[in-house]
Amino acid sequence: MREGGNQPVVLVLAGSIRLGYAFKIMSTRISKFFALLAFVATCLCGSAQRAAAQSTSAPKPEDTEIWQPVPKVVMAEVNQAAPPSDAIILFDGKNLDEWVSAQDHSPAKWVVHDGVVTVNKAAGNIETKRSFKNYQLHIEWKVPENVTGSGQARGNSGVFLASTGPEDAGYELQVLDAYKNSTYVNGMAGSIYKQSIPLANPCRKPGEWESYDVVWTAPIFTADGSLKTPAYATVFFNGVLVQNHFELKGETRYIGQPFYKKFDSAPIKLQAHGDPSPPISFRNIWVRELP
Ligand code: MG
Repeated sequence: MREGGNQPVVLVLAGSIRLGYAFKIMSTRISKFFALLAFVATCLCGSAQRAAAQSTSAPKPEDTEIWQPVPKVVMAEVNQAAPPSDAIILFDGKNLDEWVSAQDHSPAKWVVHDGVVTVNKAAGNIETKRSFKNYQLHIEWKVPENVTGSGQARGNSGVFLASTGPEDAGYELQVLDAYKNSTYVNGMAGSIYKQSIPLANPCRKPGEWESYDVVWTAPIFTADGSLKTPAYATVFFNGVLVQNHFELKGETRYIGQPFYKKFDSAPIKLQAHGDPSPPISFRNIWVRELP
């Protein structure tokens, strides 16, 4: 009887313990669930904030494009200057003996034909074997008559007045079809790319030859690498002054602001731009070294 009389009490106690245990497990799981939920929410919120911050603060190519004022169009003739007696002939229509691949310094693989050299886009940029400091440069270039594309994708190339590394490292004088081809004006033909708008637009039609005559004053650096005097460029485009002793802000940057990096002397480099338009050609390239 005694044992039998205690059974309901024991059962109730056992049931209470099980129920309490079940509640404890359940509340622990619920706590873990909410903790996990909070963690996921924090992560999602943090990454969203980071993405938002990046989208507003990450530098973009468009940040350094200038579209106004558009330089006036000037009618002009190509300057086919013959090299003076003290000029170094960099290309006279025969071969690329003075040039190498800017990437690996192997022989230049652009296409020499009919007294001109045509860009081989697949082969990449080429640069002079020689290095220069201050100089006077003459170079002629032609966008093909059948050029396609628009903006920066229409006959894009460039003359790097000092090449400071492979790819596009250096100081670029832009080459581009500027005949009725709208783009940001600090990236048109005759511009010091993304630094200086040309003073006029004397660009001729595709299929016609153009000329650049450049006076380049190389930057000078101190032994510790800081800038002593900046680079200057004066440029005549088809005989028309488009850059008047412009003081450069540093090396050309597609994204972000230019800055200087120490170098002594440097090759002159021609750009094989990756745009899909037909390749341009060059001829009659010579340079005179200056004190
Ligand atoms: Mg270019």
